[in-house]
Amino acid sequence: MKTETLAIHAGNLVKSNTGDVTQPLSLSTTFFRDENGGYPGGHMYSRVSNPNRSTLEHLLATLDKGADCCAFSSGNAAGMAVFQALKPGSHIIAPDDMYWGFKKQLQTIFKESLDIDFVDLTNVEQISSFIKPNTVMIWVETPSNPLLKITDLKALGTLAKQHKLILACDSTFASPMLQHPITLGADIVMHSTTKYIGGHSDVLGGALITAKQDELWARIRNIQQIGGAVPSPFDCFLLVRSIKTLPYRMRGHCSNGMALAQYLDQHPQIEAVYYPGLPSHPQHEIAKEQMSDFGGMMSVLIKGGFEEAKQVVNKVKLFAQATSLGGIESLIEHRASVEGPDTKTPGNLLRISVGLEHVDDLIADFNQALSEL
Ligand SMILES: *Cc1c(COP(=O)(O)O)cnc(C)c1O
Repeated sequence: MKTETLAIHAGNLVKSNTGDVTQPLSLSTTFFRDENGGYPGGHMYSRVSNPNRSTLEHLLATLDKGADCCAFSSGNAAGMAVFQALKPGSHIIAPDDMYWGFKKQLQTIFKESLDIDFVDLTNVEQISSFIKPNTVMIWVETPSNPLLKITDLKALGTLAKQHKLILACDSTFASPMLQHPITLGADIVMHSTTKYIGGHSDVLGGALITAKQDELWARIRNIQQIGGAVPSPFDCFLLVRSIKTLPYRMRGHCSNGMALAQYLDQHPQIEAVYYPGLPSHPQHEIAKEQMSDFGGMMSVLIKGGFEEAKQVVNKVKLFAQATSLGGIESLIEHRASVEGPDTKTPGNLLRISVGLEHVDDLIADFNQALSEL
């Protein structure tokens, strides 16, 4: 079946005896045993598994073409489960512009236990020079945050296979609609479900999808169930509900994103637009190859500096000045001041999450904000 159909029907496995058309919210933390001590409902205790979470996991594994999925209470918890599953002393190659929350985990929580190199992963050829005897994993994020850099997943998958390394991909900016890293060689895909998958800025969550049920995956499932950083049934219910419209929401984000990027690209007050859908993007050809469309995330450099960028975020009215991304409402953010004093993000960079308002209104809003510079 096609994606739009799966998004609606792959999440409707559980049939209740009250005739509900959509799966009800099941809040029970514990489940009946039968005379032989078994669990006829398939669940024992809701941290281990529960009906709403199992449905979400099945749905996400289906949409991302994987074998299984573990859902977590946040994207950060999902990523952390991967790092926790590695043996102490393991070496990881991670992107130099890795999502800052993961960079922070690796530099603080895993400082003593893991060995990490932050590398520009857009240059796949030079990655092999960082591989050491204790290297076990390459972690990639594409499109990356906040510069929307694209890494060639197929080339990276081949390199990882050659060196028997795990390839993990943070695919949050693409969502399961725009790319399928598993089909290009990734072993694990990570999503912050807080973003496009949730899509309404009202659920926090994360997910990992595996290509195969191997020993690493067993360790990750154990970390999920015994570590306990799990989403609540209500979070899972909301995510399953949101995924039903994900294919159509992503189409809107992509077409609004492209139109806004093209408008900003020709504006005299804009120094640069980072959007993988523009032919001027350095990895546009790779993006065209591995993504079905380019999403609603972009960053722009405002001519001038920090002051001019701040003026623009304060002048726009439809773009809420707030962090996060992937929701139906447009957001704008001055990244450098969010990331703090040790950031490498340029002071005149604004990150934009294009929402589902009419694009004419979004363009008009930017037009008035930029005209006063
Ligand atoms: C938001 C985000 C995360 C972290 O997810 P949370 O749900 O906020 O914990 C990880 N990677 C990327 C690319 C993100 O945008």
